Amino acid sequence: MSTARLAPSVAELHLHLEGSLRAESAVELAAARGLPWGELTPRQLRRKFRYASFLNFLYTVRDMAQVLCSYEGLERAARELSASLSANGVRYAEVYVSPVIYARWGLDAAEALLAADRGFAAGELDAGASCAILLDSVRHWGAAPAHAVLDAFEQSGCTRAIGFGLGGDETTPLAQFEEVFARVRSLGLRPIVHAGETGSAEDVRIAMRALGVERVAHGIRAVDDPGLLAEIRERGVALDVCLTSNYRTGAVRGEHPIRRLLDAGIAVTLSTDDPSLFRTDLAREFRLARRVFGVSGSELATIASNAIEYSFATAETKATLRAELARRLVG
Ligand SMILES: [Zn+2]
Repeated sequence: MSTARLAPSVAELHLHLEGSLRAESAVELAAARGLPWGELTPRQLRRKFRYASFLNFLYTVRDMAQVLCSYEGLERAARELSASLSANGVRYAEVYVSPVIYARWGLDAAEALLAADRGFAAGELDAGASCAILLDSVRHWGAAPAHAVLDAFEQSGCTRAIGFGLGGDETTPLAQFEEVFARVRSLGLRPIVHAGETGSAEDVRIAMRALGVERVAHGIRAVDDPGLLAEIRERGVALDVCLTSNYRTGAVRGEHPIRRLLDAGIAVTLSTDDPSLFRTDLAREFRLARRVFGVSGSELATIASNAIEYSFATAETKATLRAELARRLVG
């Protein structure tokens, strides 16, 4: 395959299983389960992936999760995501999976996690991207469901799960999750949080200080606070930035903060967040950064390298990815 149309990056660190399911598969799964999306064509469904507000986007995520809510659906979504990432040149990805959402609709959370695990394993066997799981809970549901996700992790013995994160409404105070994140670390999982996307710079500070996160999903509002930018640099925390996502959800209007984050020396990675729901892929994100936001070729190479260095992959996987990235940058 020619690498010309691929992103330089061989790794992607911020995407959600629910937001990755292809419209074609979503229609099929919805039809099998008698859900309204089953009556649409994939093209009609894709037209629904436009959002008047962030809340409107969250409702669409919920609808997509409902379509996925079977062990077969989760397995299929994971298998197909592994294949589509590989087709886009991604060799390694960290994918958020939220078993507690499926548990609310009657699935067993540990079994849901294992279904996604089986799908990723099948994808890898079929030359797909290697996918690690970031366990995910819903911030505005509070601490109890977050503990339930960790219970499911312990019950399942799923070794593919290597981190734990939170997404959802950023007005929910993060401080209530301190105990959850102490448990996260005691279980050997790497801590990560969605913050500073629609919320404040202060939320990013709390995520680092109170929860000890190693990366922040989005984190773009940090740009409003020079002291915080210095702290992010000192702590060696990376921001997993998603350009198209920020515009489609309305989190950013006007100029994107990425230029100022790079100028401030922040370690940034680029990702798609929800490639299906935002109709994008990693190559498109890198093109946007270059053509629209003035990110230079050498900065893009650093961003691609950051996705390896700040990943939660093993030293062995990182070495393999570095070699692959070096080949691609030369090619
Ligand atoms: Zn996200």
